Amino acid sequence: MSQTNKDADDSVEKLIASQISQWDLARSNYMDLENAMLRTVILDNGCRIKIQFNPSRMRSSAARVDKKSVSRRRCFLCSGNLPDQQRGLVFEDRYLILVNPFPIFSRHLTIPLKEHTDQLIGGRFDDMLRLSRFLDSFIVFYNGPQCGASAPDHFHFQAGNKGFMPIEEEYHHFSRKLIAGKEGCTIEAMDGYYRNTLVLSGKNNEVLTTFFGKIYHILRQSQESGDEPMMNILAGYEDGLWRVFIFPRRAHRPRQFFEKDDGQILISPASVDFGGVWITPRREDYDKLDSETVMDIFAQVSYGGMEWQNIKNILCNHK
Ligand SMILES: [Zn+2]
Repeated sequence: MSQTNKDADDSVEKLIASQISQWDLARSNYMDLENAMLRTVILDNGCRIKIQFNPSRMRSSAARVDKKSVSRRRCFLCSGNLPDQQRGLVFEDRYLILVNPFPIFSRHLTIPLKEHTDQLIGGRFDDMLRLSRFLDSFIVFYNGPQCGASAPDHFHFQAGNKGFMPIEEEYHHFSRKLIAGKEGCTIEAMDGYYRNTLVLSGKNNEVLTTFFGKIYHILRQSQESGDEPMMNILAGYEDGLWRVFIFPRRAHRPRQFFEKDDGQILISPASVDFGGVWITPRREDYDKLDSETVMDIFAQVSYGGMEWQNIKNILCNHK
């Protein structure tokens, strides 16, 4: 680990420790998380999904993120509106690294841009790479404005400690197809992972950013509406190499979210769910989720069939 990263680790660890000791809301939610119920569902392909019962995430899972609702509430990521007890670290003068007081991970950060501007990844993928290198004991993630971000009006990343999401390890065992390569950087596809996934790997951030630009452009062409193509992204850095998982999305919420009574499952899949940890704020959903339902929901909200094939074909032919 380089000196810089060790320094970053130390300062982030200090921030987390001091926030948990001095901020009641954070302390209580991190303590609850330690005892949170967690069970594992095994999918047909042998991959694992952890189900976490986490009532404090209700406001995120059920958040109203339409423009009208968002414009009516006070932005909770603007520095002037942060709780008095919240402290942060500055990254590259532009981002604030904050402890997320409603954690999914035992170490969970929210990283807003200082400026109040829309949640759009275009032009900021490189920021994500540098941030994941800086926070190299974390996975940095991005939820698109219609893909689970509860502040679609204020640009932010999040980060959670490594070693919690099954995809980090499953990537190494799951069969992958090489789609494109350049200067030691690759784009691979994980077909049959029940959420069709593109994986960028390599040591050259410029090439990876170019790869991302191509994927963004192709997705843009296949999705006519919205401010940006729907997607979730996870990025990690280890031993000089980035690995980035991109999940193209065709829907924000599954049919079950809108059903009434017993049929309803309050789940809004976002990056962490795609990484293999499903967050259920309600006990009945925690009890109800089984492998069949997980696979059905992934199929509804991910790319599939011809549209997935098309993306791979275009990327293959792109030079
Ligand atoms: Zn804001």
